[in-house]
Amino acid sequence: MQIDKCKLDELRELLATPQRVVILSHTNPDGDAVGSSLAWAELLRQEGHKVECVVPNKYPYYLDFMPASEQMIIYKSDSQRAAEVVRSADVIFCLDFHTMSRLDGLSDLIDENQHAKRVLIDHHLDPMEDFDLMFSYPKASSTCYLVALLVEQLYGAERISATMAENLFVGMMTDTGNFAFSSVTPDVFRMVSILAEKGISIPDIHNHVYNSFSEGRARLFGYVINRKMKIFHNGTVAHMSLTADELKRFWFQQGDSEGFVNYPLTIKKMKMSAIFTEHSDFIRVSLRSRGDIDVNIFAQRYFNGGGHKNAAGGKSFLPMEQTLALFEEKVKEYAAEGMLK
Ligand code: 5GP
Ligand code: MN
Repeated sequence: MQIDKCKLDELRELLATPQRVVILSHTNPDGDAVGSSLAWAELLRQEGHKVECVVPNKYPYYLDFMPASEQMIIYKSDSQRAAEVVRSADVIFCLDFHTMSRLDGLSDLIDENQHAKRVLIDHHLDPMEDFDLMFSYPKASSTCYLVALLVEQLYGAERISATMAENLFVGMMTDTGNFAFSSVTPDVFRMVSILAEKGISIPDIHNHVYNSFSEGRARLFGYVINRKMKIFHNGTVAHMSLTADELKRFWFQQGDSEGFVNYPLTIKKMKMSAIFTEHSDFIRVSLRSRGDIDVNIFAQRYFNGGGHKNAAGGKSFLPMEQTLALFEEKVKEYAAEGMLK
């Protein structure tokens, strides 16, 4: 994949002299958000810039192994420091999100800094247009892949260090369901080969990300599939829900329910799956689909959200029972429009 040459030149010019850089990523940061931020930060530091990574809240505990992840500034627990670095930034990179609503409270801070150049590096559909420079590639399978391409095309692949490779691999692996989604192109494997040659241990990374959960997470998973999964619409749609009380019962830690939403799609007939997780002031909605069924549109229309065609999310401000009823009603409407074929 070739990144637009004019944009590469613009970026080169922007980074020609040392800058104070802030790299932001989205709420509930996942492997792609953390990996792309850390790798891009490392590259920019090598180039002589002063760089800080800021995220709205903590990433899940099983990503703690990611090199230099402890240096990320968590707005929720360190808002003063986050405010300082955002206010004094000359350049703000926005990675792995397409709308400021994904930053929660952090977005107000960015509005306060009117002098910084804003650069987007992202792979979500329909990014908002409020950027000085945009690297928006919705067909790219992950932001980590985009960052790897940027480094390669700006400075050469030899500039990718072993720690950058590890961070980039995490996002490329997690955002593609282990390189299984239709977004994965032959060029993604070319890039994996470049990363593998840097000496990363793919089995170790896999174990950190997929085999490092708590006992509570395993039990919560069994519970939600056995007791809380409702299958309807002739066996083609499933929803699951977890209330705050249920989460507490299983010693829930942030990140523990990641991936649950994919499981109903292992049933042959299943076309669309949703999980609703109760937080203190809203219900988090997570949606997945197969093939041509578009959950990005569904999330935008009914749950104040968005994302990708086959993986999207949003929020509900109704109580759980009403949220589930709304979901079932909207599935019916969606099907009546022919959107669930
Ligand atoms: P997840 O279900 O893993 O939380 O999110 C799946 C996809 O939907 C991600 O690409 C994420 O960016 C997007 N997404 C999740 N929650 C929201 C949301 O509240 N608003 C928007 N616009 N996108 C979301
Ligand atoms: Mn991503």
